[in-house]
Amino acid sequence: MTTRLYTHPIYLEHLTTPGHPERPDRLRAIERALDDEAFEMLDRVEAPTGDERTIAYAHPENFVESVRRQVPAEGFARIDGDTTLSPKSWQAALTAIGAANAAVDDVFSGRAANVFVASRPPGHHAEKTTAMGFCLFNNAAIAARHAQRDHGAERVAIVDWDVHHGNGTQDIFWDDPSVLYCSTHQMPLFPGTGAKSETGVGNIVNAPLAPDTGSDHFREAFRSRVLPALDRFAPDLIIISAGFDAHHRDPLAEINLTEADFDWATGQLMDSAARHSSNRLVSLLEGGYDLHGLAFSVAAHVSRLMKG
Ligand SMILES: [Zn+2]
Repeated sequence: MTTRLYTHPIYLEHLTTPGHPERPDRLRAIERALDDEAFEMLDRVEAPTGDERTIAYAHPENFVESVRRQVPAEGFARIDGDTTLSPKSWQAALTAIGAANAAVDDVFSGRAANVFVASRPPGHHAEKTTAMGFCLFNNAAIAARHAQRDHGAERVAIVDWDVHHGNGTQDIFWDDPSVLYCSTHQMPLFPGTGAKSETGVGNIVNAPLAPDTGSDHFREAFRSRVLPALDRFAPDLIIISAGFDAHHRDPLAEINLTEADFDWATGQLMDSAARHSSNRLVSLLEGGYDLHGLAFSVAAHVSRLMKG
């Protein structure tokens, strides 16, 4: 069984304002990192356009329409201080959803052992009715619902190791016991949510990390909180909200992970997927803003996925 990679040139055409950290060069850096003979066996597939109707799995239609209406014919439209739309943003966002949903299809049909999706814009800050934090629609949430509605998954776990808390994913599944959301993130930091006391209906597991901590605290959070929660929940699918901005080089946060930590965490989640979900594991790119840190981390992550 192979590891599949979805990406698409349209992701480079979601433009952000000059100097913005969430920029097309992030995907170029990933592409260069994976353009190496170590990744020869990676099954590279162009991401399909998503089915617009699946956006409604996580967002009400009037919100979806309001995002669509704001897409500018030229230049930029601002949703908030961090989050912008350019003329191709709609198509990029729809293709990010398409890839996430296709990845779910692949692991349920057995076409791939596991899948990494290198897409933009990211998704985990997008709440039910709010686009924010560089995110328009919540790719991971839509993919989780797609697994439930279209593949009969009963329980889906989303593990989010982006250095920012995935307030959007937490918001969407706050009162839904069929989806487990586990997050490690720096606190305090944007967006301000993610305290341990935020537990939803027992389906939210937040493991905040203090600034200037690193590998030891991150791995301890995984061992003591994330992995036991997965064992209790026994998901039919694990989705990773794979941000790489907890890397020590990242300019937006102060957590000091290295690529070895992402390799380790990937292995832990693969073991969990082997125990509970017939190895079904889908990884979706979220943040990661230092181009070298991002490239090294994605290489470590994907190479571990390929060892499945
Ligand atoms: Zn982030």
